[in-house]
Amino acid sequence: MISPFILNDKNLFLDRFPTGQVNRSLQAWDAADEYIISYLEQQLLTSSKQNILIFNDSFGAISCNLTEQQLYCVSDSFLSHQGIELNLEQNGLSEENITLLSSLDDLPSDINIVLYKIPKSKGLLCQQLSKIKQQLSKDVIFIACDRAKEIHSSTLKLFENYLGTTTTSLAVKKARLVFSQLDNDKALSAVFPTSWPLENTDFTLHNHANVYAREKLDIGARYFMENLPNVAANTEVIDLGCGNGVIGLQVLSKQPAAQVHFIDESYMAIASAKLNMTENLPSAIEQCHFLVNDCLTSVEGGSVDLVLCNPPFHQQTATTDHIAWQMFKDSHRVLKKGGELRIIGNRQLGYHIKLQRIFGNEKLIASNEKFVTISAIKR
Ligand code: SAM
Repeated sequence: MISPFILNDKNLFLDRFPTGQVNRSLQAWDAADEYIISYLEQQLLTSSKQNILIFNDSFGAISCNLTEQQLYCVSDSFLSHQGIELNLEQNGLSEENITLLSSLDDLPSDINIVLYKIPKSKGLLCQQLSKIKQQLSKDVIFIACDRAKEIHSSTLKLFENYLGTTTTSLAVKKARLVFSQLDNDKALSAVFPTSWPLENTDFTLHNHANVYAREKLDIGARYFMENLPNVAANTEVIDLGCGNGVIGLQVLSKQPAAQVHFIDESYMAIASAKLNMTENLPSAIEQCHFLVNDCLTSVEGGSVDLVLCNPPFHQQTATTDHIAWQMFKDSHRVLKKGGELRIIGNRQLGYHIKLQRIFGNEKLIASNEKFVTISAIKR
């Protein structure tokens, strides 16, 4: 939904990315974005040009308001980066002063102000705060924001432990600001990737801070691994929404002559999948391909034999099925005739209806009290 975001003297039209989502009531910004931008203006913090580091700006609401500044935008999400670019373009704003950085890039050293949108993942929060403390100057102005109900005393404790002295603002429109100084001389330092042994194998899985199922095997993934198809040599396989790559790893451990494409929109997911293949199956690394992408946008039509997918049902804080829809439609496009999409999902999500609509067929492979594994063939 493109909706006007009118703040101070700016009148922006912002959209979520990908555009055209079925749930059209969702906005591309929230009260926390409004609050942090108004605060900067009221405190005259941006009256002269500053080097500003912005973290986790969902679709560019903060960046699009500050394009006269020198901006660096850090995100783990390829979709967020695409959203920022889209909203800059559709508002006729220049990209000249903006550098997009992934969550694994080093931070620029000459930063004056950090604007920090608090992420949903506690692992990512700790990793980013730790990196800010280690890589930025003590004098930096640090302002975080979120919906007030998400800022608990335990959240503030993390800011104190990883950065230093922390205070908060009053709540405005149910949003709150957090101010921290980088003055904790004994600040904690977050250690990532985390590692755990993969049950019933000799493998160890490594997980960067924002990776799905970072602390243990997802129960859906476990059930999916029990119900994967037999894969012939030279099969072109996509592990779609690969996370740490556990599904592709399982495929290659059984069929070392398959080609596996690991695809995810999270930079940390792709880095984890690469690490896991390099560490656990180095002999198969030549058959592994890694791609940060929005679903299968950049994959050629009619080019693969098998897509395996444990789809997400959230985008940031919103529960939504548009990504699953897109993943299924893209899979139909990229499969060769006779190729298979095999998925796992919670029973109540009704994915079989979507597959029937897109593929004209679907078959239940296995089910238990929580999950179903379903296959659809491209005719
Ligand atoms: N395959 C892993 C497993 O089974 O444990 C992770 C599955 S997790 C339910 C879904 C994954 O989809 C996440 O890693 C998430 O980052 C990824 N994802 C979400 N939106 C995506 C998109 N638009 N394109 C590609 N991947 C996406």
